[in-house]
Amino acid sequence: VSGKLSPLLKIQQEAVDFYHRVLLTTKAGERGMQYAQKRELNNDILEHFKIGYAPKEDNVLITYLRGKGYQDDDLAESGLFVQAKDGRLFDRFRDRLMFPLDNEHGRTIGFSGRRISNDKSEAKYMNSPETPIFTKSKVLFHFAEARKAARSEGHLVLYEGYMDVIAAYKAGIKAGIASMGTSLTDDQVYMLRRITPNIIVNYDGDDPGVHAEERAARMFNKDGNFNLGIVVLPENLDPDEYVKKYGTKKYQEEVSGALTPTDFFLKRLAQKYNLDNDREKITYLAEAIKEISQVRNPVEQDMYVERLARSAGVSIDSLKANLARERRRNN
Ligand code: ATP
Ligand code: MN
Ligand code: MN
Ligand code: MN
Repeated sequence: VSGKLSPLLKIQQEAVDFYHRVLLTTKAGERGMQYAQKRELNNDILEHFKIGYAPKEDNVLITYLRGKGYQDDDLAESGLFVQAKDGRLFDRFRDRLMFPLDNEHGRTIGFSGRRISNDKSEAKYMNSPETPIFTKSKVLFHFAEARKAARSEGHLVLYEGYMDVIAAYKAGIKAGIASMGTSLTDDQVYMLRRITPNIIVNYDGDDPGVHAEERAARMFNKDGNFNLGIVVLPENLDPDEYVKKYGTKKYQEEVSGALTPTDFFLKRLAQKYNLDNDREKITYLAEAIKEISQVRNPVEQDMYVERLARSAGVSIDSLKANLARERRRNN
């Protein structure tokens, strides 16, 4: 690291240590600690994820870092402060639980802060703005740690939220990562491809989560080099809520029962049609065959055709004839 980048990285690391220390050892941090306890974040978790607390006042971090000799132009560029019209700098993150966001080498490049007050007019999560070292579309929470764990766990698990990665970690799934929110980027897909082809997607079980899974599945499939599993949790739950409600063992079963993308799409398709109505059923079967025709592995294709024939009460031969026609159309 050279030139300007070095002070920027140093400032982020100072902030990590500062917020973490405030949370664990200060009177001001007790508020944050209460919230951490409510979210069932034990000390091991606070330590592993280097979680911290940004106090309510708007000049705590700025005072601390100036005291350590950092220059205002570097501080202004760090994204940790907001600049008033007169040029004065104030702490950007206030009264928030702080999650450091790291680059692929494990160095902190920005933060996301969880609101801990009930004031709904404040955003639930606030991220660092883009800076010379922080590009949101290229960051995956917990990536540097998860890539190590992926070697023994055999796959990476992609989540929507930080708290989901943390809940999974507590449940023994240490290869969890999250993009910031639900929109996965091509850069992030590329980062994952270098680690393992085996990806499990486990977004929230609500409508936006399942839609985002559909989108993610299309992105991974387009690349063609992934072996994808998709988990859809019941009752609109997100992984963190699921673990709280049903426990670790049940959650691990959900992950090992991940659907293939085709199964996931076929299930979604079946929900869209009234299969007691013949005309709807015919449309459904045509759409399903279209989906199955995209599968590259013939054995896997056979498996879906047979299952579809059985569940719809039609002959395998007629479905196979339609499949052959669909495949000619694709070529
Ligand atoms: P929590 O469990 O703390 O309520 P969550 O992860 O379940 O958080 P979701 O609403 O499911 O929250 O959002 C998923 C992710 O989207 C969050 O973890 C965060 O990365 C991002 N996110 C949510 N709300 C915002 C926001 N207002 N601004 C920026 N990012 C957000
Ligand atoms: Mn969500
Ligand atoms: Mn959620
Ligand atoms: Mn949640």
